[in-house]
Amino acid sequence: MDEKKIRTEVGELGEFKLIDRLTKPFETKNPTTTVGIGDDCAVITPNGDKMVVTTDLLLEGIHFDLTYFPLKHLGYKAVVVNLSDVYAMNAIPSQITVSIGISKRFGVEDLEELYAGIKLACDRYEVDLIGGDTSSSYTGLTISITAIGHADAKDIVYRNGAQINDLICVSGNLGAAYMGLQLLEREKRVFVSNSNTAPQLKGYDYILERILKPEAGRKTINALREKGITPTAMIDISDGLSSELLHICKNSNKGCRVYLERIPIDEQTVQMANEFGIEPSIAALNGGEDYELLFTVPITDADKIKTVEGISIIGHITDAAKGAFLVTPSEDEVMLTAQGWNAFTKE
Ligand code: ADP
Ligand code: MG
Repeated sequence: MDEKKIRTEVGELGEFKLIDRLTKPFETKNPTTTVGIGDDCAVITPNGDKMVVTTDLLLEGIHFDLTYFPLKHLGYKAVVVNLSDVYAMNAIPSQITVSIGISKRFGVEDLEELYAGIKLACDRYEVDLIGGDTSSSYTGLTISITAIGHADAKDIVYRNGAQINDLICVSGNLGAAYMGLQLLEREKRVFVSNSNTAPQLKGYDYILERILKPEAGRKTINALREKGITPTAMIDISDGLSSELLHICKNSNKGCRVYLERIPIDEQTVQMANEFGIEPSIAALNGGEDYELLFTVPITDADKIKTVEGISIIGHITDAAKGAFLVTPSEDEVMLTAQGWNAFTKE
């Protein structure tokens, strides 16, 4: 483990050589990328009638903790969270730009690790790195990524299209990333109090992967397209199910009923939640960063949606006057709030 790592100071290379070194491994793959890195602007040739754009800013200490977050994973995740937003519009991502602020703590090799993760995500999701910016920083690492995607106007799905009686669907399972984060935070506290202890992470590879290396909703988007299903509304789950449901309800001016026992939760999430004395459904409702897709489909698509693997139907859309509620197995109705678990812990 203690092999001496080579460390090159960023200052030794200078900005331009650094950019060259970091971006050299990237090749463009999309015909929509006319000009990538190297000029004052990238040039994109539109494909489809609409282009979608999204940006995320990640600050060390606020959005990530490098004590347990490997730089390569961070690079991968920073790209994926942006692509997740593009898929949430039912668009196909094609380009990203990456801007970084770096303090003296980071050597060239560290940044190469970060970019190795960025490249892995670019390769897996077939997007091109077409530019960015590089600056020094006093306050650790800052990463800002912008993603661009394309779609035909008829395919774009907004948050505001949900209709009464539409089925509410969610991909994958929820709460896993949150429980993975709780585990990492716990092991960090143990490590800080006694640095001789090795972290106890065995048996929890799935929830750790969900926080450290999440995936964006490409599979879901493709599966829906294959079945000829266009959601009426869609959002990606970055802040927790409750909060995202409320966004769809508010933007669509509708209410909803979601059934607690239908919310998909993985076995490892349940186990870890039990260890922490947390109700697993609370993790699923309020834990963020799962990057699954939450969407609504017309009830006439009920049979079709049931044939899509990995999709759970968790409820339906109602009139706005009926409010947004979670229905428990004992048929109690709990009002959904962005931090709905206060109401819950009282039970
Ligand atoms: P400018 O002076 O116009 O800001 P730069 O010298 O910063 O240009 O960047 C040169 C080229 O390298 C541009 O194409 C820019 O988009 C790209 N670039 C700069 N920093 C990064 C980075 N961190 N990651 C990827 N591309 C970058
Ligand atoms: Mg610049």
